[in-house]
Amino acid sequence: MKDIIVLGGGPSGMMAAIAAKNENNNVTLIEQNEKLGKKLYITGKGRCNITNYRDISEFFTQMNRNGKFLYSSFYTFTNMDILDLLSKNGLEYKVERGERVFPKTDKSSDVIKTFKKILVDKEISLIFNQKIKYIEKRKSKFYLYSKDERYSCDYLVVATGGLSYQSTGSTGDGYKFAKNFGLNITQTYPGLVGVNLKGDLYKKLTGVNLKNVEITLLKDNKKFKTDFGEALFTHYGISGPIILSLSSLIYPNSKYSISIDLKPGLNISQLDDRINRDFNKYLNKDIENGLKDLLIKSLIEPILFNAEIPKDKKINQITKEERARLVKAIKQFEFDIAGLRDFNEAIVTRGGIDVVEIDSSTMESKKVQGLYFTGEVLDLDGFTGGYNLQIAYSTGFLAGNSIKEKSNDNK
Ligand SMILES: Cc1cc2nc3c(=O)[nH]c(=O)nc-3n(C[C@H](O)[C@H](O)[C@H](O)COP(=O)(O)OP(=O)(O)OC[C@H]3O[C@@H](n4cnc5c(N)ncnc54)[C@H](O)[C@@H]3O)c2cc1C
Repeated sequence: MKDIIVLGGGPSGMMAAIAAKNENNNVTLIEQNEKLGKKLYITGKGRCNITNYRDISEFFTQMNRNGKFLYSSFYTFTNMDILDLLSKNGLEYKVERGERVFPKTDKSSDVIKTFKKILVDKEISLIFNQKIKYIEKRKSKFYLYSKDERYSCDYLVVATGGLSYQSTGSTGDGYKFAKNFGLNITQTYPGLVGVNLKGDLYKKLTGVNLKNVEITLLKDNKKFKTDFGEALFTHYGISGPIILSLSSLIYPNSKYSISIDLKPGLNISQLDDRINRDFNKYLNKDIENGLKDLLIKSLIEPILFNAEIPKDKKINQITKEERARLVKAIKQFEFDIAGLRDFNEAIVTRGGIDVVEIDSSTMESKKVQGLYFTGEVLDLDGFTGGYNLQIAYSTGFLAGNSIKEKSNDNK
């Protein structure tokens, strides 16, 4: 009988343990917290965006780093496979906007309960409150040390997660273990996170929710990526769905800014016509009042400020040049980016264990036989929409399944 240890009780570790277990092996899952899936619990604002319902072939377009590495993982254990597994074990799900899949109950705790049920049914040993501090390999066995215990195994899966939301247990220990085994770790950065803006203008906009806008990220003053959707001004700058995705493209050492098109549905001349119509309607009013049909109230003053038009100027005195500046200010509402928020607010970690060190068809380390890495500890991340959890399950499954096949051969 071979002994398998999975380190980390997040989605990737749970999946690895489930996939590894059969009657010919012992599988133990070790977790430092008092329970499983502390990060899983807070996913999707407590609702858990389990995965995405698109065809798995489309997942590669939603990967930020090292998408190609995931080919075997995604095709061996797809989005439909995780949904099958969870629904066979009692979890009902629903598909929402953007093909995002959630539990029907809107409770992430139901996803965790379902994973736990499968682990218990499969007789996988669960050990809680044990933080592993050191791992070594002697002969062909791995030894894991906590403060007061030692565990040993023939195969080890490290699924300890990244660096974001450290209070959930993702404290970057996996990088330390990998480094001790001689593996390379790429530079880590917060991913899917809000951005700090320069200047003071955003402070006047705190709490303003932008809907149906188009935001272009500029890198060193050149257009880099454009996204359509929602964003939210905050006390530090800006966040919300579009910004989270764009944030994953930002690295230090370059200058970034954003340009917000508040009316992407209208081209410049259509917007000019529209403003003209509003101006004719409110001809004798201050311009501030003449824009209320076009813009939400909290945006009017900052836009006029950017267009260098006094807010109390009468509409009948607005010049052609001023109108052109106004159109530009609405189509190109610009802010310089000061930097990213930190790991404590990041949804994922960019960077991690270099995938060059890992066999993508098994998740085994190329340097250390019997040692596997899965989930966010690896240099893999995707955009929002359920893709990061799918990375966790698919890589976890591939590792567990590879170990199961190997341990069957070497009973
Ligand atoms: C606020 C938030 C919302 C998110 N929402 C979504 C979403 O809706 N959909 C989506 O796809 N993704 C979402 N994500 C991302 C997703 O949660 C992660 O990518 C995923 O949890 C990574 O899984 P993992 O198993 O690799 O790591 P983790 O979930 O981080 O699990 C790692 C586990 O290892 C344990 N561990 C670490 N070190 C040790 C040690 N030394 N000894 C013992 N145990 C240890 C930790 O305690 C932890 O339980 C969200 C993330 C955040 C922060």
